[in-house]
Amino acid sequence: MISDQEDIKVQSVSPLYETAPLGGPKQGPFLNACALLETALLPEELLEKMQEIENALGRVREERWGPRLIDLDILTYEGSLINTPTLELPHPRLAERDFVLIPLFDIAPELFISGINKTVHTILLNRDPSPDVKLYMPSGWHEQS
Ligand code: ADP
Ligand code: MG
Repeated sequence: MISDQEDIKVQSVSPLYETAPLGGPKQGPFLNACALLETALLPEELLEKMQEIENALGRVREERWGPRLIDLDILTYEGSLINTPTLELPHPRLAERDFVLIPLFDIAPELFISGINKTVHTILLNRDPSPDVKLYMPSGWHEQS
């Protein structure tokens, strides 16, 4: 659905990872991936597009599958530092989440994260290895056969 947007070009997509839920109610594992997008949309406009996609899927979800089918977050937008009620960039919990850092490393290891002022590679190197993030599908999983 992201690649169907005419003002967004999907440059690359990470493998898909399976992650055990961190606390909360008894629930199944999550699937996580990162994508690198090229767009002329401004950060707020991009967020709006992502929310439109969440909502489109949400309508299906409400009828059939229960809540929280999809969560599309913007991790960084070039060097932007934004802190408004609707948008924080870089994503404030990016550096604490292995399920974000690991797929992000796959597509952009040397991406510099403003604010934290480190590359994804460096942030990940300073963390303990995470047994909770398991490869689920290799890169190319999103391509239609
Ligand atoms: P979460 O992603 O934290 O689990 P939600 O997807 O329900 O929770 O998002 C809640 C709100 O977070 C959204 O309405 C959005 O305005 C805000 N938000 C702030 N920064 C970001 C970001 N970088 N990416 C996506 N949403 C963001
Ligand atoms: Mg979200």
